[in-house]
Amino acid sequence: METTTATPSPRMLIGGELVAGAQTMDVVNPATGQPFAKAPRASAQQVEQAVMAARQAYPAWAAQPAEERRQLLLRIADTIGANKEELARLITLEQGKPLPMAAFEVAITELTFREASKLELPPEVLEDSTERRVELHRRPLGVVAVITPWNVPLIMVANKVAPALLVGNTVVAKPAGTTPLATLRLGELIAQIVPAGVLNIVSDANDLGDVLTGHPDVRKISFTGSTATGRRVMASAAASLKRITLELGGNDAGLVLEDADLDDVAPKIFISAFVNSGQICAALKRLYVHESIYDELVGRLASMAEVAKVGDGMDPEVEFGPVQNAAQYERVKSLLDDAARVGTIVTGGVVQGAPGYLIRPTIVRDISDGTRLVDEEQFGPVLPVIRYSDVDEVLARINASIYGLGASVWSRNLVRAAEVAARIESGTVWINKHLDIHPTIPFGGAKSSGIGVEFSTEGLREYTQLQVINVAK
Ligand code: ADP
Repeated sequence: METTTATPSPRMLIGGELVAGAQTMDVVNPATGQPFAKAPRASAQQVEQAVMAARQAYPAWAAQPAEERRQLLLRIADTIGANKEELARLITLEQGKPLPMAAFEVAITELTFREASKLELPPEVLEDSTERRVELHRRPLGVVAVITPWNVPLIMVANKVAPALLVGNTVVAKPAGTTPLATLRLGELIAQIVPAGVLNIVSDANDLGDVLTGHPDVRKISFTGSTATGRRVMASAAASLKRITLELGGNDAGLVLEDADLDDVAPKIFISAFVNSGQICAALKRLYVHESIYDELVGRLASMAEVAKVGDGMDPEVEFGPVQNAAQYERVKSLLDDAARVGTIVTGGVVQGAPGYLIRPTIVRDISDGTRLVDEEQFGPVLPVIRYSDVDEVLARINASIYGLGASVWSRNLVRAAEVAARIESGTVWINKHLDIHPTIPFGGAKSSGIGVEFSTEGLREYTQLQVINVAK
């Protein structure tokens, strides 16, 4: 098991140059709890330089033929594909997920650049009459700030950078302070193929986000992270009325109707809750099960949790890695402690005596709404299973959340499932699955789960300004 090395001294990408940070910072491997690499830590001035470089590069990049920009996305995709093992290894070391999952993340990152390269927003003619000709055009915005979290670090960069660049914006991207390495490495790998200043990458200790969100030359912020930080981003964007796309927290409910096929759905529910050790905005985070099948489904989920292999993601046997950072580990532990008082922990809990931030897939039963584990976003491998008897009543409980990212309905009766799905206040409702997020399908949150969507032409529009050209006849 190799856990000790990374690139010798990663650099940031500013104005086409690979540069060291004003300082360095430790990057911790969450499987050991120990630093294993150094990353650049930018100064506020370096972030300013990155914005300046993006601003200077913008006019020429926006004036490129769309085909040139499309080609750049494809070249970035090729570079990711050619370096997939190295990138996957970095993701496992800094983020913790098992290496095959990290390889999957790299593959989806590549796919996201490829899919984005196919998108188009052609001008539309709204009216062509004796009075006027009205055309609708989509223009780029300028400098886009891309701020990404630590759970799926590389995919998040692709989700935002690819559409932003495609339509002619330039970008300053900032990964999360605990997972900068894969993003920085991507910057090093593509430094030669991206025109200077078009894409800049800076890393901080989670302390310079507001330099970007408050910067007068940044026209749009595309942010994925917690709802609490999202509120700060939105407040900071208000001063200069920046455009924002916010992908924030979720507390996705799974609603299992009494006729669900448990053989089929139990393993799917399990993986939807515990993949990436529960650290996905749209993971299944609270499971409502009809009383007639409650004991049976709890038992099946517990059996799967008991045999799950938890540990260092570099170990080929491991299926579930650690929680990504110490702060999140402490938070999940405090939710677990509270759940032990107000519910029953069937199986799971903190891995005792092991290094790193390991928590086993944990099933909590006989717990209800109004408790922290059910009402808050746990963002970790602890699933509360809640009993219900009446669908109308449970829908009210599901919709009482401040969040509304995803949800799922599980049933053999697809007509009834669709009727129930329509009554859930969320950006996505899956039926007999959860977490099917794909770069061709729009994805976004209701309520405090965010503003706007990502992916497809719906998402692409958010990186543009509508311009009406209205010609007298
Ligand atoms: P968590 O709270 O789970 O650690 P965050 O939502 O705070 O995650 O982090 C997501 C991203 O937001 C990271 O890149 C982080 O550096 C950045 N960030 C943190 N605080 C701010 C802020 N005030 N403004 C802008 N970005 C921020």
